[in-house]
Amino acid sequence: LVELSHVEKHFGKLHVLKDINLKVNKGEVLVVVGPSGSGKSTMCRTINRLETIDSGTIRIDGQPLPQEGKELANLRAEVGMVFQQFNLFANKTILENVTLAPVKVRHMSKKDADDLGMDLLARVGVESQAAKMPSQLSGGQQQRVAIARALAMQPKIMLFDEPTSALDPEMVNEVLDVMMKLASEGMTMICVTHEMGFARKAADHVVFMADGRILEKGTPEQFFDHPQTDRAKDFLSKIL
Ligand code: ATP
Ligand code: MG
Repeated sequence: LVELSHVEKHFGKLHVLKDINLKVNKGEVLVVVGPSGSGKSTMCRTINRLETIDSGTIRIDGQPLPQEGKELANLRAEVGMVFQQFNLFANKTILENVTLAPVKVRHMSKKDADDLGMDLLARVGVESQAAKMPSQLSGGQQQRVAIARALAMQPKIMLFDEPTSALDPEMVNEVLDVMMKLASEGMTMICVTHEMGFARKAADHVVFMADGRILEKGTPEQFFDHPQTDRAKDFLSKIL
């Protein structure tokens, strides 16, 4: 479903992505780990073209990423993204946060969008908060709304970039539980996360990045129990 081959990216002189090759099949969960600055976020952002690449190819469903215009907007609609910061629209209610894009982009009627929105809020366990404003919710609740908002566009794939790292510890699990549920329902997911328990349970494959390169690629068992490179061993010794 998603395929990166020989992807290269520089920020000025800084070489941030070096010969990135990876493939995520439909229904698979890929977890991306690695030290700070290794290029994990940049890689995620190239997949919905929030960042351009210098060379190489990225394909979604066999199609190269569109450069601009309507095709790019369509692509963005197919790739849901959830960031560390929830970025909810502060002046809209929780329900409006979820229904805005389906109404504007998918031209859904308000009634249909509201029904869909309430269904999605129920799926992430915050339907009772629908009429509130984002600032009235906890961080964990806001992040679950952000997931519902991304799901409202019926994406083919969901990208998560450290969705729990800005949360108080007691709220981490409620977000991970929603992600686990999505994974078990067959959503294709790429997750940058330091939550190793989640990675072990949810991931089909784990990728370890360092200095812009993919150094290891394997099943969670291979990566966590038998890391091959010194960089990965060092990383795991600090994080586990
Ligand atoms: P973290 O774990 O801290 O989130 P990361 O693995 O997500 O790190 P990236 O955010 O992808 O790393 O950054 C990779 C490198 O690119 C870093 O050296 C970063 O400083 C640099 N970088 C990221 N975004 C930009 C930008 N817009 N302009 C210039 N340099 C950037
Ligand atoms: Mg990052």
